[in-house]
Amino acid sequence: MTETLNTTARRIVNPTSGALVSELPDSDLSEVDEALKRAVAGQRRWAQVPRHERARLMRVYAELVREHQDEIAVLLSTEQGKPVAQSEAELGLHYRLFDGFASRLLVQEERAFFLDNQPVIDRDLQITRHEPLGVIAGIVPFNFPIELYSHKVAPAIAAGNSIIVKPSEETPLATRRLVELVHEAGIPEDVVQIVYGGAEVGRRLVESPLVAAVSFTGSTEVGISVAQNGAKTLKRTLLELGGNDAMIVLDDANLDDVVENAVFGRTWSNGQCCCANKRIVVHESLRDELTARLLDTFATSRMGDPLDPATALGPLINTKAAAKVEEQIKFSVGQGATLAAGGGRDNCFVEPTVLTGVDLSMDIARDMEVFGPVLAMMSFSTTDQAVEMANATKYGLSGSVFTQDMKKAMEVGTRLETGQVVVNGTGLYRSDVMGFGGYKSSGVGREGLAYSIEEFMQLKTLTFAGIMPGVVGA
Ligand code: NAD
Repeated sequence: MTETLNTTARRIVNPTSGALVSELPDSDLSEVDEALKRAVAGQRRWAQVPRHERARLMRVYAELVREHQDEIAVLLSTEQGKPVAQSEAELGLHYRLFDGFASRLLVQEERAFFLDNQPVIDRDLQITRHEPLGVIAGIVPFNFPIELYSHKVAPAIAAGNSIIVKPSEETPLATRRLVELVHEAGIPEDVVQIVYGGAEVGRRLVESPLVAAVSFTGSTEVGISVAQNGAKTLKRTLLELGGNDAMIVLDDANLDDVVENAVFGRTWSNGQCCCANKRIVVHESLRDELTARLLDTFATSRMGDPLDPATALGPLINTKAAAKVEEQIKFSVGQGATLAAGGGRDNCFVEPTVLTGVDLSMDIARDMEVFGPVLAMMSFSTTDQAVEMANATKYGLSGSVFTQDMKKAMEVGTRLETGQVVVNGTGLYRSDVMGFGGYKSSGVGREGLAYSIEEFMQLKTLTFAGIMPGVVGA
């Protein structure tokens, strides 16, 4: 894709080849302010559109994206670097979420309270009504531009809000195409808008008094600043943040399943997943065999062009990110870990890396999130130790445990301080319907088909005083 180039614009570079894909200027702050004003007016009109019509328009849009999915998948892999089958999977999810939130909207329930359960007001009736919040700011990271756009835009507009999306400055192009199709589908332009840029533009949205809620996905560090800046105008901040998740392998685990899941969970999106199994916490009796098998499988994952269907592992998002992972590997070795495989870097490509002998004295075992294809192997002798290791981090996004014993799985699952635990699968697991989100510094709030609409609405209670008949026929 080639465009007229603007010398002051931000360069969108293909991380696989280093070639320029496009240039896109950041939104001027006055443009952001203008978008905010339009979003306020647009939201008022959109909230009047009946739910069945909102749902219909969302489905028209979802179908339109489906017609363009091949083009958009290639665009995403080109700007982001993930294997194209994974971009296609994101578009499948996009369809399901817009269709799913449209359906969810149509069956949204309210409550009625007949107040004869309380003296004095016993002839009153109350009914509840969920109303939209207003203008939502949706701030998205680089690793799942389409998936996370969908988890924000679909419930926000279903609920009658307007939304301004700010994609990552690294990956704005697929999102820009989606927003064009939103408008082509007939959803008003002021209801879904897009602005471009990095921290400055994001901060403008977060600090605006016109924004009712921020739905943010990204690093914990930036998430904290979003919470602080959002608090100045007391807005709702929904935060999906970082992780350093553990995969616990008990002594009766099926190693075939462990290996398959560990490889999948640490190569997906080229190792750049919030809920990847970043640490393998294995019983000492299985340590050597599991390590050998991961060296044979994970460490030999095929690296290459994401548009080649045989590629398992593409580049990281940019050379800075790749250099950071390379540094984190060296740093961990400096702290005493053993480099069993990998460690090398070629521009944006980082070799799949296995670090063994990791223990709780090292940063990688605790709060250092490594956003690349690196497995940190730790071993334990008792289940208590395994749980202690898994929980010894400020993060609490996801986790997993492998065992044949469901009582042990239940014990470990209830003791892990995470928003989700997967038994006999990787913690890199996200169904559409679940409430996805973290404990501790991994976030605030939950995203998913069963939860998000209410997160984007506020509750009003209408009381009808004295409306019920008194005692009749006595
Ligand atoms: P990031 O925090 O650097 O950026 C995320 C978004 O915030 C980008 O759009 C960026 O431009 C914007 N931003 C930066 N500074 C800002 C500010 N001061 N105010 C407002 N917006 C600002 O994250 P990233 O590097 O794009 O993504 C990787 C991180 O995201 C990892 O930590 C990963 O674990 C996390 N993540 C979490 C989830 C989840 O659901 N929990 C999902 C994906 C990624």
